[in-house]
Amino acid sequence: MAWEPVIGLECHLQVRTNTKMFCGCPVAFGDEPNTHTCPVCLGLPGALPRVNAAAIDAAVSLGLALGCDVRSESVFARKNYFYPDMPKNYQVTQYDRPLCEGGALPAVVDGALRRFALTRIHCEEDAGKSFHPERHGDVRISRVEFNRAGTPLLEMVTEPVLRSPAECTAFLLSLRRLVRWLGLSDGDMEKAQLRCDANVSLRPAGTPGLGVKTEIKNLNSIKGVERGVAAEIARQAALLDEGGAVVQATLLYDADHDRLAVMRTKEDAHDYRYFPEPDLPVLRLEAGRLDAARAALPELPWAREERFASAYGLPGYDAAVLTEARDLSDYFEACAREADAKLASNWIMVEVLRVLKERGWSLARWAERVPPERLRAFLSKVGTKALPGPLAKQVFAWMADEDGTPDELLARHGVRVQASADDLRPLVRRVLEEHPEAVAQFLEGKGVTFGFLVGRVMKASGGQAVPQVVQALLREELAARGAGS
Ligand SMILES: [Zn+2]
Repeated sequence: MAWEPVIGLECHLQVRTNTKMFCGCPVAFGDEPNTHTCPVCLGLPGALPRVNAAAIDAAVSLGLALGCDVRSESVFARKNYFYPDMPKNYQVTQYDRPLCEGGALPAVVDGALRRFALTRIHCEEDAGKSFHPERHGDVRISRVEFNRAGTPLLEMVTEPVLRSPAECTAFLLSLRRLVRWLGLSDGDMEKAQLRCDANVSLRPAGTPGLGVKTEIKNLNSIKGVERGVAAEIARQAALLDEGGAVVQATLLYDADHDRLAVMRTKEDAHDYRYFPEPDLPVLRLEAGRLDAARAALPELPWAREERFASAYGLPGYDAAVLTEARDLSDYFEACAREADAKLASNWIMVEVLRVLKERGWSLARWAERVPPERLRAFLSKVGTKALPGPLAKQVFAWMADEDGTPDELLARHGVRVQASADDLRPLVRRVLEEHPEAVAQFLEGKGVTFGFLVGRVMKASGGQAVPQVVQALLREELAARGAGS
């Protein structure tokens, strides 16, 4: 039977804040273990939490960017469960009245724009970390580290609207681009700044119902999500084809061996005994704060991508590459102003991005070396053929290495672009004298030798001649010889 996968994603995003979700402990990674803790994040009796306004602002920005309904009143709740790295024995999260509901994330799949509906986005706190087991002499011990306990997280849950592993990848790439664009997080899955669980079920293709789902955890890269979901689809399809039944369960994906293992049969919501957090008041957002957040939203990446294609006439591929990061798209616009946009796009996509990759530079570092007005001056010379191809590459390389405008660099390196007819006429005449057979062939009507002669002159000029000028001069000189013969 043909099965249709039904996939929902649950993403946890670590947002960039200075302090933890409910206390003043700094959010810092890689420091000495258990140095950023206090009575609140250690869950000591009597300690009272206070909500981190920056984390709420981050959730509101993300919600507004995705078109969610942002509640003016939302409620924190306790999710009760025991885990050694969670000192309170409950997690403060949101349950039946989350901050954001609805909305959708746009993403391009196979060249077509899809909008993936969201269920909700809410704020919560992260757990600490366990390291286990380690062998110490004769005993095996586990260690817990609480620096991360209480770090702000945004949880985003999709509706079961994804239909393939490739759609999961497109979704996560789009989400990562957005959170970077908004400056909320680096969204790096390998660094656990973005974590993702996937709910997977199958149903007979073309039917509306939902099959029994499983949840895959431990997906710690975008590739891992794609492969883990694909493995689970294959596992369920084989099971169903044999007449078996899928059992609701939580699975772990082992990316190194491309294997799934059942971790536990799934808890239901009632297992967590949610109840409203008694130590925190209802979270109220004033209308003014929402309006300010809405006004502060930048042009969103997908809107800018579309505008780059329509306003600058760029191919979809260029528009997507240039809007992968907000600073890159800003840099492109600053360079493309009053310039040939496709030319600017080509040089930025190919040459600038190559330099960034090779040198491990940030775009900010590049823009310090080559500010937009300097690249614009360069592009204008390339566009008007005042810088012939090979020389353009050389000037670009100098720009990457040294400070200076294209004109300053040409002067510094003693290069005088041979652009005028006066500069080039002697060279053209010399080449014609050196190749009498080619001249004769051209005069007999063999056009192909013209290209050969252009090439000889360009070579003789060391790539500094402007091809259009060379062609015009050659035509003139050959015409004179034709008339004289
Ligand atoms: Zn603390």
